[in-house]
Amino acid sequence: ARIPAALDVRDQFPGIGDWAYLDTAATAQKPQAVIDAIARAYGPDYATVHRGVYARSANMTERYEAARETVGRFIGARADEIIFTRGATEGINLIAQSWGNANIAAGDRILLTQLEHHSNIVPWRLLADRTGAHIDVAPLTPDGAIDTPALIALLTPRTKIVAIAHVSNVLGGIADVPTIAAAAHAAGAKLLVDGCQAAPRLALDMAALGADFYVLSGHKLYGPTGIGILWARADLLAAMPPWQGGGAMIESVAFDCVTYAAPPLRFEAGTPHIVGAVALAAAVDWVEAIGVERIHAHETRLLAEARAALAGDNRLILHGPADSAGILSFSLDGVHPHDIGTILDEGGVAIRAGHHCAQPLMAWLGVPATARASFGAYSNADDVDKLVTGMKRVRKIFG
Ligand code: PMP
Repeated sequence: ARIPAALDVRDQFPGIGDWAYLDTAATAQKPQAVIDAIARAYGPDYATVHRGVYARSANMTERYEAARETVGRFIGARADEIIFTRGATEGINLIAQSWGNANIAAGDRILLTQLEHHSNIVPWRLLADRTGAHIDVAPLTPDGAIDTPALIALLTPRTKIVAIAHVSNVLGGIADVPTIAAAAHAAGAKLLVDGCQAAPRLALDMAALGADFYVLSGHKLYGPTGIGILWARADLLAAMPPWQGGGAMIESVAFDCVTYAAPPLRFEAGTPHIVGAVALAAAVDWVEAIGVERIHAHETRLLAEARAALAGDNRLILHGPADSAGILSFSLDGVHPHDIGTILDEGGVAIRAGHHCAQPLMAWLGVPATARASFGAYSNADDVDKLVTGMKRVRKIFG
C-alpha cells in the first residue's frame, strides 16, 4: 500500500509546480513566505543597519538583530553566539583562520572524516599548510557512516580540533555528535560540526549536541543564498581574534591602534547581508511552523519508498546507510551518473550527478561520481514515481 505523503506544502513553492525537484541537498526551493520577506526587506523596509539615526534604519537594525534571536532559538543557542556569514563555507574558513591561527601549531593534529564536504577539508588543509599541523582522517563503517569508535581511537593529546558533518551531503548518514563531542573534549580537542544538511532535517539544540562550533547555510534551509550562520560558544568567541577587518567590527580606530567590538559584531566586518538575515529568519519561522521533525519524517518515508522501488534493479547500487536523512546516492553499473542525470531531466526529474564536493568520499566508494536524489518538505510520492520511471528508462537506453 502507498504510504501517504504527510506534508502538503508544495503549493507554497512557486518554483516547483510538477517538476520532480530532487536536488534539495544542493539547495532548497523557496516558499512564498521567504520570497515575500525578501521583497519587503528590499522594498518598503529597506535601509542599512547599525548606523542610521532615522527610524527606518533603527527598525531594520531591530529586525536584523531579531533574526539573530530567531536563528539562535532555532538551534538552541544565545543570540550573541550567532555570527552571520555568507554560508557554511565561510563559517568554517572563519574558524580555521581566526581560531585556527591562534590555537594550532606545528605538530598539532586536526581530525576530519572520510565523508567530509570539500568546505570542511580545504580550510583545514590551508591551516595545516600554514602551521605544519597534521590532518587525520576517521574511517567509515561499511555502509558509509562515520565509524565513531574508530574516530575516537584517532584522538591524541595533540588533536586540537575535530571537524565533522552532522549529516553527510552524499550518503545522508547522521553522525553521533554527542558521543564524539564528549570524546573530543576528554582528549582536550574542540569539535566543529558542519550542519548544512542537518539543519533542514533534524531538531537542533547546541547544548545537547555538545559541539563548540556549528555552521549552516541558509539556502539549504529554505532561505536565501549568501547567508548562513556560525555558532560558537561565547567563551570561545570572546577569545577569538578578529578575522576580517572593516566597518562595524570595531570599537575605536586610529592608525596606530584599533580596538574591536565584542562578538558577534567583531566577526561581521562591513555592511552585512541585511536582507539575507531577515529572510533567513522568515525561513526559520516557516520551518518551525511545520516542524523540522515532521519534515524529517516526511523525507524519511519518501526515501524508504524510493529505496524499496529502486532496490528491485540488481544492477543498481544504493549507497549509504538505510536510515539516511533525506539523501540517497546511487550508481548504475556501467552508466555514468551524468547520463543518468540527463535522461532523468528529460522526464522532468532533477537530481545531482557528480562528486558532490566530496572527492575523498568518492575515492572511498570507488567511483568517480554518483547520482544523488535528495528530498525536501515539498517532495511527494509523484516525485518518487517519476524517479523510478526515469531509472527504468535509463536501463532501457543502456540495455
Ligand atoms: N557542507 C555540506 C555537508 C554541504 O552539503 C554543503 C553544500 N553542498 C556545504 C558544506 C557548503 O555549503 P555552502 O556552499 O552553502 O557554503
